[in-house]
Amino acid sequence: MKIEEALKEASLRLSSLCQNPSRVAKILLMNYLDVSIEWIFLNQKKEFDESGYFALVKRYENYEPLEYITGEAGFYGLTFNVKKGVLIPRPETEILVEKSLEILSNLPARNEPPLVAEIGTGSGIISICLALNSNAKIIASDISDDALNLARENAAKFGVEGRIKFVKCAYLDQIYGRFDLLVSNPPYIARDYELDKFVLNEPHEALFGGAAGDEILKNIVLVAKNRGVKYLACEMGYDQRESMQNALKFNGFEAEFYRDLAGFDRGFVAKNIFVNF
Ligand code: GLN
Repeated sequence: MKIEEALKEASLRLSSLCQNPSRVAKILLMNYLDVSIEWIFLNQKKEFDESGYFALVKRYENYEPLEYITGEAGFYGLTFNVKKGVLIPRPETEILVEKSLEILSNLPARNEPPLVAEIGTGSGIISICLALNSNAKIIASDISDDALNLARENAAKFGVEGRIKFVKCAYLDQIYGRFDLLVSNPPYIARDYELDKFVLNEPHEALFGGAAGDEILKNIVLVAKNRGVKYLACEMGYDQRESMQNALKFNGFEAEFYRDLAGFDRGFVAKNIFVNF
């Protein structure tokens, strides 16, 4: 089949599934043939064996996210490896990275690098971006072996494997030390919230936080208090501001909330008022 015919057929098949079917058709073809977008434009009449390409189209028709099919996702200007079984990075999480970097750059000067802990590192994006943009030493946890393996792979891809220690545990259960900053983008979606079919192909333990959704976030606030962390920065759901405000206040944190680019409440940075700075 000719390139142009395959793209046309794929776009048609994908048209009911996404906003921009011709873009998805091209990305799948670039991935399948391992070629650039320019190559595709210049080789419209070229014949190729389309069966493997339509196998990728079929995966998308089965609601497999594009990032799992291509094995890559962009985040904070970088291309991270992604895999089925681990949450795909979301653009709003870049704000959490920015907020965390702000906290780190405003810490009082010291001889030692600041210590950061991350709960639920997933593909490692947050810890890796912090390692690349600060001098922090980082320890990151996850309960999933798939996530930890992928996070280690990504850390090595960006040359920061020596700056981040990845530990298999829940919360900070197997991790010792006092941290300047605890950061997390935990599962925070309520169990009965209706998600799109592509999102449902992501790991449910990375998405759902419990019946209300904010259960894990509240546990993280308790961990932050008990471990005496100086700052806590977390992403959260659009409707969790009030409950997190209460939990943070009750546990001795002064919080500032931030919104995402769509204008929804999306997270907070909080300062522990019981820790001397
Ligand atoms: N920290 C990872 C991310 O922000 C994973 C988060 C998660 O699995 N809930 O993408």
